[in-house]
Amino acid sequence: MLNKHNLVFLGPPGAGKGTIAQLLARDSGLVHISTGDIFRNEIGSGTELGKKARGYVDSGGLVPDDLVSEMVGARLSRPDCTPGFILDGFPRTLNQAGLLKPALCRIGKKLDCVVNFEAPYDLLVKRLTARIICSKCVTNYNRLFSPPQKDGVCDLCQGALYSRPDDSLDTAIDRLRVYKEQTEPLIEYYRDEGILVSVDGSQSKEITYPMVLEVLR
Ligand code: AMP
Repeated sequence: MLNKHNLVFLGPPGAGKGTIAQLLARDSGLVHISTGDIFRNEIGSGTELGKKARGYVDSGGLVPDDLVSEMVGARLSRPDCTPGFILDGFPRTLNQAGLLKPALCRIGKKLDCVVNFEAPYDLLVKRLTARIICSKCVTNYNRLFSPPQKDGVCDLCQGALYSRPDDSLDTAIDRLRVYKEQTEPLIEYYRDEGILVSVDGSQSKEITYPMVLEVLR
């Protein structure tokens, strides 16, 4: 179905990377690797990694590059990534992008495509502060744009929905600033590598998802 299998989803928080990555993973068999989800899991389980990451995640700052790169390298070398992967939320700095290359080389892979999700700032703030997530299956909903059928309950697995603490207005604004300063330069970096494709992330998932499928064919 797809010609491109080793993917990075790039873009600011709230641009729809996670939502589209979930749909794509469901339909294609590619593994969805969300570094944010991994950190939230580790924090929830109280692991050593979770303890190290907690302060950064809560404040909307970035977890140190070496910690996150090592974690992603280990995840990518698991056998379920053989058919391909969607990196969602990694890399987030030029240094992480530099560390990703040798990690992929070690497993005989290289990136096929970086999909850059674009959306205007005001919409990102609106989406982040109204976002709710399933505590069981991590499906995303939005109180304004895509509410669940039953208040507070996941349509798919009946799990309880919650708001991420770092989606509070102040922290969301901080995360968007961190994105601009640290992550946005990756657009140029991957454009220079010739593997960047930009898509309009401001539309609903029903519109954006087919556009993403199109660029991966
Ligand atoms: P996300 O779910 O992608 O919005 O990530 C939530 C939080 O996890 C971020 O605000 C960071 O604190 C941390 N995080 C996720 N991915 C990375 C990364 N690649 N580098 C550093 N920190 C990250």
